[in-house]
Parts: sequence; structure tokens; C-alpha cells
Amino acid sequence: MRGLQSFYRAFYGHRFYRHFRRPPDYSHKHFQIQYTVTCSKNLYVHVHRNSGHHHCFTHVYDYGSRANLKIRNTKKMLFDRAFFDFDVSHPEVKIIKEQLLNLRSQGLGHGKVQQEKLVEELNRLIIKEKVSKEAIDEAKDFAIKFKETFGQYPALFFSGCKGCHAYTFFRATNFKDINLALSWFAQHVKDTYNYQTLDLSVNKDAMARLSRVPYNKHQLTGLSVVPFTIDDSYADIMRSSRNPRVHDFQREDYSTNFHEHLQKIDLVESHNSQIKSKLMKKPVLTWKDKKSSKLIDHQEFFKSLLGMPEREYPAKKYVMYHCPFKDHEDKKPSFMVHAKGYKCYGCGKKGNYWQFFKDFHGWNNEMIREFLMKKRE
Ligand SMILES: [Zn+2]
Repeated sequence: MRGLQSFYRAFYGHRFYRHFRRPPDYSHKHFQIQYTVTCSKNLYVHVHRNSGHHHCFTHVYDYGSRANLKIRNTKKMLFDRAFFDFDVSHPEVKIIKEQLLNLRSQGLGHGKVQQEKLVEELNRLIIKEKVSKEAIDEAKDFAIKFKETFGQYPALFFSGCKGCHAYTFFRATNFKDINLALSWFAQHVKDTYNYQTLDLSVNKDAMARLSRVPYNKHQLTGLSVVPFTIDDSYADIMRSSRNPRVHDFQREDYSTNFHEHLQKIDLVESHNSQIKSKLMKKPVLTWKDKKSSKLIDHQEFFKSLLGMPEREYPAKKYVMYHCPFKDHEDKKPSFMVHAKGYKCYGCGKKGNYWQFFKDFHGWNNEMIREFLMKKRE
């Protein structure tokens, strides 16, 4: 299978540091079967051993070194692609999968006849009943829209069950937080085009994410993870998935300047999240009364937000900070926090915590209420 190895080389790189993970058939939180893979040959061997029987997952991103697989220093990782997952939720498929997994957990060959029947039924749903069509159609539509904006289609793969994957490649780039940037992008795309099957959870932990290795057979259906194009019909894709033939893969065909777009999102989102995470730290406020701001301890509130004050005047019952509003330089510190709110002697902004939410975040009353409601839950 030299073809497959060269496919992996083109897809994952000449040398890389990823895990190949084969989750066990029974659910156990802390037990994972995984191997370090560093080249296409390694990967090929593990896929070959497990394909059709077990999951075949590998990290989306290269960790840069063997040591970094443990340390997970994101600065050393190579962020050179974005991965999107389209997945249909289908109650009938779910039940069959559970039944199959239940049998499998007692041994690969346990209840063999019953297993075969379930696999057959699963295949019928996927191939004849076209359970995966919605995901495939949405992935194709995404590919078209993506090309319109960024110039190239993403590489599309059918997952071998009820979903599909899209990868786009770019120059290895540093991000402050690629998870945030990708999540924002995916959410935006999902909202704009109303994609029902785009799975957002995939982007929330993009860095640690593993995805199905191309050309392995799905452990439950026996169907292979195969590439497809926007011109392939559903029947074409199913045919190819049953009888996969390894295609040549050229990363350049799927490379764009998407990273530049992602970097812009990254800057905004990582800044927003810093502020948000400060606000989310408990206890932000002591919520004694839903309506009255008089009962809010403003010094505690600003401490949770800005840290320890620059100067404290216990006798006078106020503290001073450098002004958090960035529209003026504040060496002094000029931002006074007293029992009922704040006042900046530099820029003149003043008010209580409610006004602060408005001025600092640009939120309206509705957004503040919503935020505070969530905090109280
Ligand atoms: Zn100020």
C-alpha cells in the first residue's frame, strides 16, 4: 500500500508528532489505547492493524516534538489546517450503534450473527436511506462558499458513517487561541448558512482534537473514510466508500490564506475572552439583591475584574486603580472605586457596575441582564 503511505505523507507531513488513538470498545474515562506516530509509515501500520475493527483517530495538529505531546505547549505546535465536522444526528442509527457497541464491548466477535445483522441495517440506513445526505450536502455547500471567499475548496471526506469532514490547509501560523478563533468562525458560518449538521464542539478543543484518519474503515459500518468532491453524487460517494481507491493528494490544491482571516478573529476573540474570564471568576459579585446596586460590593467587583488595587485608603473607604478604559493613558492611577461605584479623574467616566458593563463592553441593558442571570444560576 505505497499509495496510502504517500497519501499520509502529503496529508500529515514527512515527519510529525501526533498520537494515533484507538478508543476501547467499552467506555472507560481514563483508559486509552494510543501510540505516538511520527511518520506516514507508523501511521499506516496502526491504521492497517485497526481499520474495520476499531476507531482510527489521529491528532489534527502536529505537536512539533515528542516531548510536546505531553507538555502540550501550544507555541510549539504547528497550526497549519482547520478541521470541520458535519454530523447528522439520527435516532435510529444511534440505537443500532449502541446495540452494536454493547455486543462489541463483550468481545469483537460476541453475538456474531446479531452483529452482522446490525451492521447490515446500519449500512442500509446509510447507503439506501441516505442518512448522511444532509451532512454531505451541507459540507458541499460549505465548500462552495469557502471557495468563493478563500479561493480553494476544502478537502472533503465522507466519515464512513453519518457525517463528513472538511480540511483546509494554510501556512503554519501562531495564534493566541486557535480554539476561540475557529469556534467563532464555525459559529458564524453555522448561523449565517443555517447548517444543521456542523458540529461546533469540534472547534472548541481544536488543539487537542483527533479526527478519523482518511482511508480507514469505520469500525461499525465497514465503510471507508474517502475523499469526495462537490460534483460527486451520494451514490458515487457510497460506491467509493465501499471500494476505496487511494487518490493522490496535493496539499497545495487545498491551501488558502485562511490563516490571515483566522488571525484577525484570533486577536479580537482572545482579547474578549481575557475580559470575560476575569468576569467569570467567582465570586465576581455578592448577589444580595437582584435590583439594587447599592448592595453590590463594588470594591470586590473591581477586585475580581482588575486584581488588587494600586492604592488602598481603608480609612477613606475607596481604592485607586489605573483606569481600565484604554482611551487615555493613566500613569497616576486615576480610577477610584468607592462603595457605590467608580469615578475616573482622568477621563471622567463614572457610574456603578451596571454602567461599567455598558461603557466597557458596549452592552445594552438586555445583554447585562442576560449575563447576570447566567451568573446567578
Ligand atoms: Zn479613565
